[in-house]
Amino acid sequence: MHDTLLIGAHTSAAGGVHNALLEGKEIGATTIQLFTANQRQWHAKPLSEEVVALWFEALELTGIKEIMSHASYLINLGCPDAENLDKSLHAFKEEIKRCQTLKLRFLNVHPGAALKDSVFNCITRIGHSLKSMAPLLDQGDLMVLLETTAGQGSTVGRSFEELKEILDEVGHQIPLGICLDTCHIFAAGYDLRDKSSFHHTLDEFDRIIGLKHLKAFHVNDSKGALGSHVDRHAPLGDGKIGMECFHLLMKDPRTRHIPKYLETPEGPALWKKEIALLRSF
Ligand SMILES: [Zn+2]
Ligand SMILES: [Zn+2]
Repeated sequence: MHDTLLIGAHTSAAGGVHNALLEGKEIGATTIQLFTANQRQWHAKPLSEEVVALWFEALELTGIKEIMSHASYLINLGCPDAENLDKSLHAFKEEIKRCQTLKLRFLNVHPGAALKDSVFNCITRIGHSLKSMAPLLDQGDLMVLLETTAGQGSTVGRSFEELKEILDEVGHQIPLGICLDTCHIFAAGYDLRDKSSFHHTLDEFDRIIGLKHLKAFHVNDSKGALGSHVDRHAPLGDGKIGMECFHLLMKDPRTRHIPKYLETPEGPALWKKEIALLRSF
């Protein structure tokens, strides 16, 4: 296995997607996450040839790898309402196409929300939605990652069991993995604060889902307490999880080489420090 540690942050694509790469380079990132379009709008402008050319120039210049897109917050692949499900599927397809144009490695998406429907129906619908992307995902090596959620509201993906059910529903029809957000799983009730709880949580993940499906981390401390279902990120060591977890994340051979993306508040100045800190572990 190569020893380049893939650590970065969710950098800003304001003024063009290539700027996310340049910002990544400035903060010492070896990988980044970005939004390929406005995350709060249904309709995205297609990427122009000029923007794409600038992207590949910056890609070569920065050497940044294993890049992840974060899908729009509006997308709900498990939506019980037909019209909104349709809009979600359309937006998700467009997102996949943009990821493929930019030759990204991962597309991270929140699994979905059941709203007034049952979790069971929602999971079935998410499975159908993902499988319908198979013809598009046959080309290239883009992998869709389901993000673990804090379990706020009716969101699905709050437990390893729910994520496993979605993976089973999809089977091998599309490339699919898990992105584990440390803040979200802690808020969902999985302890990570010391060596024994960290190992226990990883063992649970392995037992229920399988560690081979764990493809990325969102690395965040949590303002919310264990099991609070509150999704609020804190700087590393500054929240309810504490620094020990992030030490363990970098040291454990099961997690050390998995790409990691910071989504801590405050922006580039903090990320630069946190990336250096994680590397020092
Ligand atoms: Zn997210
Ligand atoms: Zn979050």
